[in-house]
Order: sequence, then structure tokens, then C-alpha cells
Amino acid sequence: MRLGAIFMTRITPAEDIGPWLAAARGAAGRCPHCGEGRLFRAYLKQVEACALCGERYGHIRADDGPAWLTIIVVGHIVVGLILGIEPYTPWPSWVGIIGWSALTIGLTLALLPAAKGIFISVIRRTGAVGS
Ligand SMILES: [Zn+2]
Repeated sequence: MRLGAIFMTRITPAEDIGPWLAAARGAAGRCPHCGEGRLFRAYLKQVEACALCGERYGHIRADDGPAWLTIIVVGHIVVGLILGIEPYTPWPSWVGIIGWSALTIGLTLALLPAAKGIFISVIRRTGAVGS
């Protein structure tokens, strides 16, 4: 069996893909439908359609959902670390301000595409593409 034929067997109708698998594919920046094509053509700009399976994504609007999810996750991580570590550190307050700010910005930039991929997967699956 050719390698291409193996990949083609992964393409199944959208209804046959579980929501968790589709969300995991979206979080990884892959097409939720086939799992192989790229979901983003730029940092947060989704492709119009998957280059491999043709599933369309250009009409899906995630709006503020990915930012909301990212803030919730990053906020819990950073605030937990600050409350757990900061009282026991000898460093001056400016070091903490710069360090925690850098961590917050870095985590936000790292997690935002994954959050958008999850939202696109969920919106695609539920059909709630908006107007
Ligand atoms: Zn695809």
C-alpha cells in the first residue's frame, strides 16, 4: 500500500470524527477534517480551504473566543505561579514585574493559535459559523 493511500484512509466524513479528535487537530494547527492539511496560513489567519481535503474554513469566524480561552488558561497559570513563588523570592520587585509580564506575553502568543484552532474545530462541528 502506498503512503498516500494510507493518509487518504484518514479522511472520513465530518460527522464520523469525534469532537475531541477534531479539537486536538485544530489545536495542533491541522485541518480538523483530515488531520493532515494546515489550518493556518499565517500566525492567526486560517486558510480558505484545506489544501489536501478541500474542507472550507474561510467562512468560520472565531471572533473573541480564542482570546477569551487563552486569557483564562494563561491567567490561571501565571497568577498561580506568582502567588506560589513571588512571596519567597529575594529579587527586587522590578525583576518580578518584567519576568511575569514576559511569561504572560510569551504564553499568550504561544497558546493563542491553539485556542483558535480549537474554536474553529468546534464551530465547524456545531455548524455555528455565524453570519
Ligand atoms: Zn483537510
